[in-house]
Amino acid sequence: DQAKELHVAVAAYDSAHDASSTDHLALPAELYDALTAEDQLVLVLQPEVDLQTGAPTGVEALIRWKHPRRGTLNPNDFIDTIEHGELLAPFTRYVLDRALAAAADWAGHGLDLPVSVNVSARSLLDATLPAQVADALRRHRLGAGRLVLEITESVAVSDQEVVDEVIAALREMGVQISVDDFGTGFSSLSFVTRVTVDELKVDRSFVTDMTDSAAAAAVVRGAVELGARLGARVVAEGVETADQRAALLALGCTSAQGYHFSRPLPADKIVAALNQLAQAAPPKVIPLRADG
Ligand code: C2E
Ligand code: MG
Ligand code: MG
Ligand code: MG
Repeated sequence: DQAKELHVAVAAYDSAHDASSTDHLALPAELYDALTAEDQLVLVLQPEVDLQTGAPTGVEALIRWKHPRRGTLNPNDFIDTIEHGELLAPFTRYVLDRALAAAADWAGHGLDLPVSVNVSARSLLDATLPAQVADALRRHRLGAGRLVLEITESVAVSDQEVVDEVIAALREMGVQISVDDFGTGFSSLSFVTRVTVDELKVDRSFVTDMTDSAAAAAVVRGAVELGARLGARVVAEGVETADQRAALLALGCTSAQGYHFSRPLPADKIVAALNQLAQAAPPKVIPLRADG
């Protein structure tokens, strides 16, 4: 079972690392505790919206570690340690399970929105991942179309063929595939030539700079055009201002995420926030005036 599997993983990790060498932030034992304890690893949820109307189109799940002594840790403080350790597989399953539970909850409130889950490219070296995803979807009674996997190529993976096959199998099931942080990292462009993707998530850095930098704006425009040619949705990350929203709309971008629309929220706040965004949204097509 999962607890036993974790024990084996921790033992393997411990023997491979000298635990006494440093007081490293994310000791394997602490991660083990976090994965087995109630509510230490929690997901916050950030709406994705239609840029024009502000209506929600999906929700991204983002991990936080409520560390018993260190306070709330952001993923940048510990994802690296997880990615390079033996706990990656159980961590990925944990996040998937919690994210699908959240999606089942808002589906129960009548909100038909997919959940986006971040997975590191390394998780896709596991050929059993598609079966695990299918099992998790069944447990939460959700169709595969309700799941978007955001893939970050933060590190070059050793076996690209396996990764491509796992992605193809997931897509075959109906799971949507998104390229996270598009425009940065190892090989976003070659990635879209190897696998079919449903979404490009334009990295926040380009969105931040696009109103001051013609080059950054050109990258965003390029992503929008590429998305159109690939038949992939283009989502702009990290939209913080009305000016950025307007600039993105002018370039033909249709979806966005960022503090301008909503911060990431705790799970118990997300349904109300999604309903509020949906209500605030003006109709997408402004009807002709009857007397016009
Ligand atoms: P990401 O997937 O690109 O997620 C977007 C990040 O931008 C999130 O940071 C989010 O909180 C932040 N963000 C959203 N809107 C704005 C904005 O308007 N302004 C600014 N300044 N930031 C904004 P977070 O939650 O710290 O996550 C950082 C990264 O950690 C994520 O980047 C993702 O690559 C990784 N990550 C998060 N959760 C998970 C997870 O469950 N599993 C894995 N493998 N990686 C995760
Ligand atoms: Mg993401
Ligand atoms: Mg991203
Ligand atoms: Mg990013």
